[in-house]
Parts: sequence; C-alpha cells; structure tokens
Amino acid sequence: MGAIQALRGTRDILPDEIAYWQRTEATARDILGRCGYREIRTPIFEETALFERGIGEATDVVGKEMYTFKDRGERSNTLRPEGTAGVVRSYIENKLFGQGGVQRLWYTGPMFRYERPQAGRQRQFHQIGVEVLGSADPRADVEVIAIATNLLQTLGLKNLNLALNSVGNRHDRQQYRQALIDYLTPFKDELDTDSQDRLTRNPLRILDSKDKRTQEIAINAPSILNYLGEDSRRHFDKVQQLLTDLGISYALNPRLVRGLDYYTHTAFEIQSDDLGAQATVCGGGRYDGLVAELGGPETPAVGWAIGLERLTILLQQIQQTPQASIDFYIVSKGEKAEDNALILAQNLRQNSFSVELDLSGSAFGKQFKRADRSGAIACLVLGDEEAVNKTVQLKWLKTGEQSAISQAELLANVEELKSRLQAAK
Ligand code: ATP
Ligand code: MG
Repeated sequence: MGAIQALRGTRDILPDEIAYWQRTEATARDILGRCGYREIRTPIFEETALFERGIGEATDVVGKEMYTFKDRGERSNTLRPEGTAGVVRSYIENKLFGQGGVQRLWYTGPMFRYERPQAGRQRQFHQIGVEVLGSADPRADVEVIAIATNLLQTLGLKNLNLALNSVGNRHDRQQYRQALIDYLTPFKDELDTDSQDRLTRNPLRILDSKDKRTQEIAINAPSILNYLGEDSRRHFDKVQQLLTDLGISYALNPRLVRGLDYYTHTAFEIQSDDLGAQATVCGGGRYDGLVAELGGPETPAVGWAIGLERLTILLQQIQQTPQASIDFYIVSKGEKAEDNALILAQNLRQNSFSVELDLSGSAFGKQFKRADRSGAIACLVLGDEEAVNKTVQLKWLKTGEQSAISQAELLANVEELKSRLQAAK
C-alpha cells in the first residue's frame, strides 16, 4: 500500500525549521504584550454565514477559496480563511465592548483557503494578527502599523516597503465607484472574466486583480485619493503626518483597496523586495463598519495580519537556524550502565539541566560522535565500572578534558555546576 502524503497546499513544519517559528512567536508575544495587546483564541471553524457577511460574498476568499462543509447536523461550517471575522464575532458575542474603552487584541493560528499552491501561497497557512476595536483615532492606525514594522525589523528583516492608501468612507467610495465604472467600462472586453463580473458588483476589487492586462488598464484609473471628503482627508493626512513623526517611510498606492463597504480610511500592505511574486508579508487597514455589519454596536476598528510562511521564507534567507545548546549528552553501554544513565538523566533534568540521553545501545565510538553533533556542552559517560561505583566520566566537549566524578558529587552543588557549564560554552 502506498504511503499517505500531506494534502496539496499543506506542509509539515519540521523540527529543523521550528526555531524560526518559535522565535517569531516569542518576539511577537513580547512586543505585543508590551504594547498592551492581549491574546484571543477563537475557533478554527465557524458558521459559514460569518465569513460571507464578514469578508463579503464578492471577494475571492468567499467566492472561491473557502473550505466549506456540512456537518452531521446539516449546518454549513467553514474553516476560517482569516482571523478578523472570528475575533469580531467573539467581541460581539462576549460583549467585550462592555468592558469600555479600547480593546487591543492579537491572535495567531492556521487559516485555510483553497488556492493554487506555490511558494508563499498554501491552502493551510498561518497568520499572526492584531485588532484594535473601539478607536477611530488615526493614532490607532499608526500604532498598529508601527507595531508591524517594529516586529518585522526586530526579527531582522530589511528591504521592506510600506504601501499606504485611504479608501475614505462609504460616501467617498460611492462617488469614486461611479468614476471607476465610467473609466473601466470602455475596457470591459479586455478585463479578466472575474473583473468583468465585478464591474457593477464590486468595481474597487478590480484594482486588486492579479491579471496582467487588467493591471495595465488599472494603472490609469482615477485615484481614490481625489475622491476623499474632508473628514477622510483629515484622517489620512494625520496618519501620514504621524508616520513621518515616527520615522516610518511609506509610499502612497491609490490602487491598494479593499472593496467592501465596511472597510474605511486607511489600507496598507508591507511588502518585501526579497519575496518574488508573493511579496506581501502584512496586510491591514481600518474597518469601521464591520462590527455593526456583524450585529454589534457601531465600533471603529483597525488591524492587520502577517503571513507567517512568507515571513519564515524571509527569515531563512537572512539567518542560520539558531542551534539550541544542551548541557549534557549521556552515553552509556551495558545494561547496568544504561539503567543508571536513565536515572542520572532524570536527576539532572529535575535540577533543570538540559539532557539528551543516547538510547541507541550502539558502541561508545558511535555514541561519542552523536554527542559531538548534539550541541551539548559536556558529555557524561557510563560504563559497567561507573555503574557499580556510582561514578561518571565528565567530558567537556570543547576542550576534550575529562575526569571521573562521583554521581552524588556531580549533583551536590547545582549552582556551581551551572556556572562551570556556562563557562565551558
Ligand atoms: P494575496 O494578495 O497574496 O492573496 P491577500 O490579500 O489574500 O494576499 P490577506 O487576506 O490580506 O492576503 O492576508 C494577510 C497576509 O496573509 C498576506 O499578506 C500573506 O502574507 C498571508 N497570506 C494570505 N493568503 C495566503 C496563502 N494562501 N498562503 C500563505 N500566506 C497567505
Ligand atoms: Mg489572496
């Protein structure tokens, strides 16, 4: 029988790669915690209607990419394609708005979209994201952008570009929408079929098309920035001024849009020059209408999501996997010595040393080779004689220096042993 393989568009994150993920998660947890953001964990599947309403039926995500299935009770469920809808559902359901003031939340986890898999594009992928609920202040937009750039820079990324736009408010967009339709209609036959479809339903989305000819046409489309009303203009000017104050550079991109009514004002993406076709690591913006759209009170909000696969690709380009060092590698041969080695490992671990125990039973020579490769600072060697005498050979792997020591003595002064390990690193 053939072995079963991981599904197309999914992949294993193997132990050799995991250090990147753990470092990203730890860095994000640290930065977000210091900025007053609290983690929220919502279910991986939700009622399908949540995403239809929360992302919009005219989007690719809802129209073509959702993993939707009937459960055994004939209810339509969907594996979450993104994080915001679930967070907002939870915010409303758990009345987090009742806690008053602004809610700063973050999440991380797998997302699911039925897409054509390629580098940086998978069917199960991971995001880390933030949402600030309850503030219409442009400082909130800038705070989230600053956190994203800070996180990416702390991780060591360079060659990042922040693309910025405003999609205004509902009223501005209605004006713009008509201008866009007027501009695009003469090109209708040249647009890709999805875009033809969207011409009347959701023309803003056409600016986001990945089709080459459509993109060429879109380049000369009227700019939404010329359709911003006074309030929107003021909000956007303030966002730009504050970014400049913080020394965060950006480029305006009037084709950066989100097509739905509840997206408002700021839209942004952070792209990397080092990522080929799938260049966007972070996407975000303001969504002042979404909470109300999903049945909650009118609540302005802003957030972003970072794609962790794309981030990891970038991290792998700039740094070696940090090799975890361990304190002891224990080698042993002979039944008595092997049993003794297990007990010694246990005692050391209970005293918070890190220990790897060789379980192979192979010749000492082979075990020593593995000890050398393990990244351990010292090797502990047990043969029959040591097992009988309750001693152990302590070998410092960097210098090769070796001495016999009683097992009791080894553990007698834990602090001293720790400083000797530190010194021998
Ligand atoms: P794209 O235009 O690349 O399809 P998107 O606009 O669909 O991106 P968002 O929904 O804004 O992406 O998600 C935020 C981030 O999540 C993206 O910038 C990207 O880094 C990541 N992401 C989105 N879809 C995928 C995917 N299928 N595989 C891997 N990462 C993804
Ligand atoms: Mg997409």
